[in-house]
Amino acid sequence: MSASAAPTPVFDSSKVAVIFVLGGPGAGKGTQCANLVQDYGFCHLSAGDLLRAEQNREGSEYGAMIRNYIREGQIVPMEVTIKLLENAMRAALASAPAAADGWADGRGRFLIDGFPRKMDQAVKFDDEVCRSSLVLFFTTTEEEMLKRLLERGKTSGREDDNEESIKKRFRVYKEQTMPVIAHYSKQSKVATIDATATIEEVHEKAKDVVGKLLAGEVTRNVTV
Ligand code: UDP
Ligand code: MG
Repeated sequence: MSASAAPTPVFDSSKVAVIFVLGGPGAGKGTQCANLVQDYGFCHLSAGDLLRAEQNREGSEYGAMIRNYIREGQIVPMEVTIKLLENAMRAALASAPAAADGWADGRGRFLIDGFPRKMDQAVKFDDEVCRSSLVLFFTTTEEEMLKRLLERGKTSGREDDNEESIKKRFRVYKEQTMPVIAHYSKQSKVATIDATATIEEVHEKAKDVVGKLLAGEVTRNVTV
């Protein structure tokens, strides 16, 4: 093998299914992931939650840096986030009960929520960690997302659920995350779901698309 050969991903995508869950801040990614965990036994990894946990971890060399990026709505340098995701995937695969649906013999299924938010993360994760099989893309209006985030901010304790941070997050989303959606659309990997409806209606649509994927049916770019 020559030194310039393409890197081999850490996890084999024929055994480990990765579904990216994207959509603007407040679109309902976390809520719908929790539903899909119940349906199909996914391991749900929220990139934002992993970063917040690392920020609060005693002795972390990245804590202060992560706090600043999150408050400013900016994307933390990808090496940190990708390492956190890779470690969490490794831990989940190592501790999975052998009898669990989709988890026997080194297999596994992951919902990766709020990632990749930027092109560099998408390319590096697919090449070096695990090739993703689907992007669930939840869409709704900025007005609706703002309303949900301000409501969430009353109890979330999150330093970025305030109007100033939210505006910055919307801008970063449009400038940096929308190109990621376009990239995966070109690969026919995107399922777009209108997230304006009720939680249960959105859940039914998401459940249907993901069920087809897990059953081996091809889910080209679809809008439901
Ligand atoms: N974030 C990041 N890289 C990622 C995911 C999240 O830097 O891959 C940071 C970013 O600052 C983002 C914040 O974490 O604004 C919150 O992300 P989260 O997914 O928790 O927000 P949500 O979409 O749930 O509102
Ligand atoms: Mg979230």
